[in-house]
Amino acid sequence: MNIILLGPPGAGKGTQALRLVEAHGMRQLSTGDMLRAAVKAGTPVGLQAKAVMAAGELVSDAIVSALIGEELDAMAQDCGAIFDGYPRTAAQTESLDGILAARGRSLDHVIELAVDEDALVERITGRYTCAECGKGYHDHFEQPKVAGVCDKCGSTQFKRRPDDNEATVRTRMAEYRAKTAPILPIYDARGIVARVDGMAPMDAVTAAITAVLVQ
Ligand code: ADP
Ligand code: ADP
Ligand code: ZN
Repeated sequence: MNIILLGPPGAGKGTQALRLVEAHGMRQLSTGDMLRAAVKAGTPVGLQAKAVMAAGELVSDAIVSALIGEELDAMAQDCGAIFDGYPRTAAQTESLDGILAARGRSLDHVIELAVDEDALVERITGRYTCAECGKGYHDHFEQPKVAGVCDKCGSTQFKRRPDDNEATVRTRMAEYRAKTAPILPIYDARGIVARVDGMAPMDAVTAAITAVLVQ
């Protein structure tokens, strides 16, 4: 099974992807994570992407589509893919069709996480992750069970993304509205979009997505 999690920054794509990975043994393909790794490693892609990401704008379609192709090639054929943060433009949608077809895969569902824009700034500015395992947390909505200790791996080191500030978030939301939201009708026409209420508590969102997957 291959699915896309689609929604603006802070909608809960990463949170839900991790839960699906744990419950169904699928693999999360996050272009944001891939790009951050490239920036950290100082690769040519990272050098090109760094300033664009810091500004909250979109990295070129060619770069992100190449990253996705490489990740799929490294996966077992029977392992399901969760696309998180990709595709983000109509051109990427087209690229993904070709990338999947070339590998004998097809899209089963596009899950739209519908959220209220006013809540996103609060979600993004309160977001942090475990520096060791990447598990996501939030200052108000998802704190570790023991303060300062990761639930999943026990690490006491956490980090925040440099682009998770209010000014950049506004640009990222504008990019989403202008370039990403218009891809929904493309998938709607194929009858594969399921709309899930992303404002519900995390467990309820997971239950709603799971209900779509078992249909
Ligand atoms: P995305 O990957 O779509 O940018 P995240 O999954 O990183 O979003 O979620 C953004 C922040 O909001 C995180 O700190 C996360 O803990 C929190 N969050 C995610 N889903 C919910 C939810 N349903 N209710 C409240 N907070 C949430
Ligand atoms: P969020 O979880 O908040 O939606 P991501 O981690 O997915 O953010 O992306 C962070 C940044 O990486 C984006 O603001 C953009 O600069 C870049 N990026 C990630 N995925 C893509 C993509 N598919 N196309 C273009 N740029 C991307
Ligand atoms: Zn951890």
